[in-house]
Amino acid sequence: MGTMRLRLQLALVAVLWMPAPSTTLAAEEEVIKLTFLGTGAPRPSLDRYGPSILVEAGSHRLLVDAGPGMRERLFQAGGFELLTDINMIILTHLHFDHTISVPGLWLSGWLYGRKFPMYVYGPEGTTAMMENFESAYAWDIRYREIVGVHEEGSDLIAEDVSSGVFYDNDGLKITAFSVEHMPIDVSTGELLGLEGSTLGFRIDYAGRSVVFSGDTRSTEASSIIEQGAEVDVLIHEVQVPAPGNSPEAQLANVSLSVHSTPAQVAEVFRQTRPRLGVYSHIIPPELTSDEILEATDYNGPMLVAEDLMTLFIGDEIRVGEAGGEGTEIFTEADVVDQLD
Ligand SMILES: [Zn+2]
Repeated sequence: MGTMRLRLQLALVAVLWMPAPSTTLAAEEEVIKLTFLGTGAPRPSLDRYGPSILVEAGSHRLLVDAGPGMRERLFQAGGFELLTDINMIILTHLHFDHTISVPGLWLSGWLYGRKFPMYVYGPEGTTAMMENFESAYAWDIRYREIVGVHEEGSDLIAEDVSSGVFYDNDGLKITAFSVEHMPIDVSTGELLGLEGSTLGFRIDYAGRSVVFSGDTRSTEASSIIEQGAEVDVLIHEVQVPAPGNSPEAQLANVSLSVHSTPAQVAEVFRQTRPRLGVYSHIIPPELTSDEILEATDYNGPMLVAEDLMTLFIGDEIRVGEAGGEGTEIFTEADVVDQLD
């Protein structure tokens, strides 16, 4: 490749989207699969739903964040089978654009067949938020149980986590690390003293690894650089600054104090050299991939995630697209068996 900028765009999917030659079933199982359910941020967009990424590794299935529209994208990607199978969500932080679909998946997964609790891990405050969700929907749950919906599966079990390994089970290890997304005084750079924390995650499985930046401004001391060193895939948020000095541009750029510019992400990629760098959580959502890549001075392999894009991470990293099949399998959901 030399110095050629390898820009893996969706136009190249056809080239990359082919079965790896002579791949055994066992080898196939030893990959991490990612499905980008939402690649946007708080601002509503019909192209980029709120941040949420499905991670599949062996028998594990979990979500990183639960932004607006996650439940619908999940249904698009895999129908009722996916909707009712997932029972683990890890949250980078408690902003609504990362958490608002927790109740949606917890309750509809249960209603359509999930018979085990939903587990949610996140920073300080997660347990309190989940207890509040349980209180908020207590009437809904009582109502449905009274009319015969199974009682298993309606529990929401939460755990607050901080930096370090918080999950290590059946080959899947998840490490949380602190990232810099807490509010600061933009003139002094001082933290404004809000309690709580914001996290990034590293997931390791079968010798493969993915780092999720979470929402973060870029700093030289960022733990992403340590966690992301030679990772297979590093997924980073980005905010492209609005040009000019108009009041609108100034307003849009206020949030740069808690997010990362393309130049800053390029520096993170240069220091970590992932096999593939990926942009997701894109601000503003209407930017095209070309515009975002054009703003990024980095010559390693990278791409801009789109909603429903998939990545298979193994000896090769393959790009594909989820959806199209699987939404017609409602008849396999357990809840229907009761009606037969
Ligand atoms: Zn966000």
